[in-house]
Amino acid sequence: MVIEALQSVLGKEKVILKEEAGKRIGNIFGKPEKMKVKALVLPTNTNDVSHILKICNEHKQAVIPMGGLSNVVYSALSDGSEIGISLEKMNQIEKIDTENRTATVQSGVILQQLQQALTASDLLFGLDLGSKGSCMIGGNIATNAGGLQAVKYGVMRNLVLGLQVVLPDGSIISDLNSVMKNNTGYDLKQLFIGSEGTLGIITKAILKLDTLAKEKSTAFLGLSEFKNASKILAQARSFFGDKLVSFEILWPEFYEIMTNERSGNKKPFTETYPLYAIMEVIDSNKLLDTFLEPFLENNELQNAVIGTSDQERKQIWGIREKVDHIMNEFDPVFLFDISLPVSEMENYHKVVRENLYSNFQQVHYSIYGHMGDGNLHLMLNCGDGNIEAKAQVEKIVYEPLKNIPSSISAEHGIGLSKKKWLSFSRSENEIALMKLIKKAIDPNNIMNPGKIF
Ligand SMILES: Cc1cc2nc3c(=O)[nH]c(=O)nc-3n(C[C@H](O)[C@H](O)[C@H](O)COP(=O)(O)OP(=O)(O)OC[C@H]3O[C@@H](n4cnc5c(N)ncnc54)[C@H](O)[C@@H]3O)c2cc1C
Repeated sequence: MVIEALQSVLGKEKVILKEEAGKRIGNIFGKPEKMKVKALVLPTNTNDVSHILKICNEHKQAVIPMGGLSNVVYSALSDGSEIGISLEKMNQIEKIDTENRTATVQSGVILQQLQQALTASDLLFGLDLGSKGSCMIGGNIATNAGGLQAVKYGVMRNLVLGLQVVLPDGSIISDLNSVMKNNTGYDLKQLFIGSEGTLGIITKAILKLDTLAKEKSTAFLGLSEFKNASKILAQARSFFGDKLVSFEILWPEFYEIMTNERSGNKKPFTETYPLYAIMEVIDSNKLLDTFLEPFLENNELQNAVIGTSDQERKQIWGIREKVDHIMNEFDPVFLFDISLPVSEMENYHKVVRENLYSNFQQVHYSIYGHMGDGNLHLMLNCGDGNIEAKAQVEKIVYEPLKNIPSSISAEHGIGLSKKKWLSFSRSENEIALMKLIKKAIDPNNIMNPGKIF
């Protein structure tokens, strides 16, 4: 019934039936799995989305908004009972406003497509992720994506000026105001940023742009201990100010896998070190050498390679970005994405490492992350990787966070994977308020049900 209703309003070409949709991939991270949906609809404009949600709401039909399907927490996973709504056809960059430095984009625009379109205007959108070739702006907003340049540009929450959203009853909320200052009651757009498709469908956004850097330089650092990485980061913040774009940390196990013979990456040095870091600055090529020199002289930095050309920088970033390689090396890999203060990182790492090795005979262990914004990723393959091993690993990773300022999800969201652990990071009252908001906006619980809580 619901499928016929959708077909009659949208036309048959926008409604892909179950069998055809089942030939598509449902999640691009990890092992590719086929999409399991009742049907997949492909709206081409906001009115289509409004009709779809109105019909589905009337039929109490659950739906899942879908972007590039690059999430890593099963937040767009369907069990076959839902209708998928893919925003892939809503992929127009509607306006690049060079004077006010904003872009108005439909939510199916792929991040890399936007980045490339902006270079002609000497402008830049500050979000950059390893998945930039597949993730979409709507998905980036719905997950409040962070990424490699959050030190300078912030996360998606800081980059969205206005939003257009369709609510489950089909009503369209257009908060497409691009002014920076707007104190007129609740900031409604923030409700939808990071909501993982549970409150409405994002159809359009006005994004804040920045000036494109004239030059970029990236240093790959070899270090003897964490406290030196921490000192270099702190001093880089004051030396470079807002020209510091990224500061990433790589523990040696991660570095070794990411530079092994199957990785496609080259080792920047022949020597090995107890720790590695990548830092990137803009419009300061000559200064990067000047900044690093005293650390090398004082033995606080063991080695450094600086890349200034696109090719050199790409080689350095390959070691950090192409983490899919780890999924090809080990199976299964449990992925974590935690936040904690830089001052807690070394001790946290030590505790987790010791606990993993004392609980499992076989551990493949990779830790790395966005040190500059207090965010670590762990990719762990332990024991025989079954459900019991997973539960044990989760406990080892999350328990030490209980007593420090932290989050169980820095940037990936909750989806299905982290639901069980939400109460580690949010209080009972906060979760109750979230549920109240969900119920008020989506009383029939059709929007991505079962995700987050
Ligand atoms: C190699 C790799 C590297 C990555 N690196 C990073 C990183 O550095 N930082 C980071 O934050 N993430 C990272 N990710 C995770 C992922 O790319 C991000 O979460 C991304 O923002 C998801 O976008 P998407 O379009 O693929 O969304 P999807 O996976 O399609 O969907 C994600 C969630 O958003 C909802 N959604 C999608 N579109 C809409 C819409 N229009 N309206 C409402 N809800 C919607 C879905 O229902 C789902 O809940 C990485 C992933 C990979 C595979």
